[in-house]
Amino acid sequence: MDPRARFKGRKPACTVQCAVNQEMLEQIQGKVLTAPERVFKRGTKPCLFGKGGTCCHVCNMGPCQIIEGVEEMRGVCGATAATVASRNFCRMVAAGSSAHSDHGRGIAEVFYETVHGNAEDFEIKDENKLRVVAYYFGLDPKKETKELAKEVAVKALEQFGQQHGELAFIKRAPEKRQAKWRELGVVPRGVDREVVELLHRTSVGVDQDYRSLLKASVRTALADGWGGSMLATELQDILFGTPVPIRATVNLGVLKEDMVNVTVHGHEPEVAEALAMAAQDPEIIKEAQKVGAKGINLAGICCTGNEVLMRRGIPIAGSFVQQEMALATGAVEAMIVDVQCIMQNVATVAQAFHTAVITVSDKAEIEGAMHIPFDHHHPVESAKKILREAISRFPKRDKSRVYIPKSKMDVVAGFSHETILYILGGRFRASYKPLNENIINGRILGVAAIVGCDNFRVFDEVHVELAKELIANNVLVVATGCAATGLGRAGLLSPEAASLAGESLREVLEAVGCPPVLHMGSCVDNSRILIALTEMVNTGGLGEDIDELPAIGCAPQWMSEKAVAIGNYFVGSGACVVFGPDFPTEKSQVATDYLFHEFKNIFGANWLVARSAKDFAAVMIDKINEKRKNLGIDKPKPRILFDMAMRRALESPKVTSPFHGLGCFGPTYLKVEEEEEKAA
Ligand code: SF4
Ligand code: SF4
Repeated sequence: MDPRARFKGRKPACTVQCAVNQEMLEQIQGKVLTAPERVFKRGTKPCLFGKGGTCCHVCNMGPCQIIEGVEEMRGVCGATAATVASRNFCRMVAAGSSAHSDHGRGIAEVFYETVHGNAEDFEIKDENKLRVVAYYFGLDPKKETKELAKEVAVKALEQFGQQHGELAFIKRAPEKRQAKWRELGVVPRGVDREVVELLHRTSVGVDQDYRSLLKASVRTALADGWGGSMLATELQDILFGTPVPIRATVNLGVLKEDMVNVTVHGHEPEVAEALAMAAQDPEIIKEAQKVGAKGINLAGICCTGNEVLMRRGIPIAGSFVQQEMALATGAVEAMIVDVQCIMQNVATVAQAFHTAVITVSDKAEIEGAMHIPFDHHHPVESAKKILREAISRFPKRDKSRVYIPKSKMDVVAGFSHETILYILGGRFRASYKPLNENIINGRILGVAAIVGCDNFRVFDEVHVELAKELIANNVLVVATGCAATGLGRAGLLSPEAASLAGESLREVLEAVGCPPVLHMGSCVDNSRILIALTEMVNTGGLGEDIDELPAIGCAPQWMSEKAVAIGNYFVGSGACVVFGPDFPTEKSQVATDYLFHEFKNIFGANWLVARSAKDFAAVMIDKINEKRKNLGIDKPKPRILFDMAMRRALESPKVTSPFHGLGCFGPTYLKVEEEEEKAA
């Protein structure tokens, strides 16, 4: 029986972005309540005080709803709208930073146990990156690997509890930026200290000047971007491998009717890495075959998906807004969830099918889900236990209720900042110089990052329309997180999509066989973008600091507090960030003006807001053009007229990052490499 028959003629009661999601929504309706339907059925819009940042509930005299400019409508304690909106903004930054950073701490602990011989299965995969990290920790990178790894593990953990001094990776930022941070007193001392201090500042009766609060929020955010997140990315690369371009597929069509489907959802890659190893174990495959399946099909959701997509080419079933949809296919035996962005409703949706939702982290259990604690000392053994639970569910699958949409799309992912060196510069000239040259000569107008979540309250495909608009205007796009998955669904992560780019960008992309949108990883991997921006500065010809680059970031469908932390560390690092469709301090003009205007005077970059894809594109392209004008490169120049001063600047980069000499990026498989090999 066609399972769609029962929905025939029935109009969907509500909508969700993306055609395949809508298709699944029609499947799921009537079986169990899901987020799009909840958005629809709630009817009302979110409370404007809460949405705009002017509801305070930090003490029991509240909650106080504040109206800016109305004296009687200040908080009972007299708190102004600016103070309250800034406090709420700070709390989001602190929570977001704590999430990324606790993820970083988690992987640092796995790393520590692994290199001290207390954990099986994992090993050092990128020895050269280990040496890069050791260099920034002030260790001797030439030391014997095992000894060095132990010292790196200790130093990495110390970054979280450090009380004084500066976080080690601060030294990776452009020198001018470091000097600015020191002058402003916003260099983070230790990851935990900055998060705790910011929370303290926002509690009742402490920091009550919006300027002081918002400046402090940058210090905490920097502790995330150049601390917790960067530690997570680097240690994951050392343990599981630094990503290189890899082909894979995305969307719900990656689920398979004849296999045990196991989705890995959340953010931390160690469980998914272990599951990937266990799924290839002949013993496990045999057990799957015994129940009538051909084997185990692993598929990712959210950022855990991005992690294993980038390193192993494991397909992604869906982004944040697709987590319930994946279960509604009726074809998933188990959804393994670690931490962050897992909607409580997945446990409810799973109960309508034969699916097990299995929590594995001690930090994150879900009512109605099964809990199998992941043993970091025996990862593959733990993973096998989880897979056996999934296998046991396969015979219970009701084939008449299975509906797997056909949609899936080929993507190329794995563009770490190291890989970009090779793609654009080739193996023999690995450098950001070609990127800078192409920006200076106008072939590439600038670089835009589309990052962050997707959101059930956004109905249009803003990421997709925006990316198309940007590339058509010769802006190179990089993407992370669920935004990257959405862009993958739309086909923009494939080299063929270069045909949608403006003429000059297309020429550059076609020369190297590169997609117009580069997938740079998960949420914590936004730290890769910080390093890429620094590389552009250090390569020369585009100014001396990140705030001079024709580069900008955006999060058009931000949902999580983590996005606020990410945006704030980009702004604090000198890159403007556009949020949408709304901004969390909107109901205080004073606080919002400070973030949107005064931050530019302080940090050289500011926040902005936009609503539609067209608005975003206009704001971002204007900003890029403004930077080009400031650099004196606003008039496109043919290569032959390349300014000699710029050429000299490019010929002698200001700073050569230590990893250039280490060749730690592994092979890439793009056209340029093959051509170079042939030529050699
Ligand atoms: S701290 Fe002030 S504004 Fe906030 S809830 Fe208490 S009285 Fe109201
Ligand atoms: S991009 Fe946003 S929704 Fe997606 S996994 Fe990251 S934080 Fe969650």
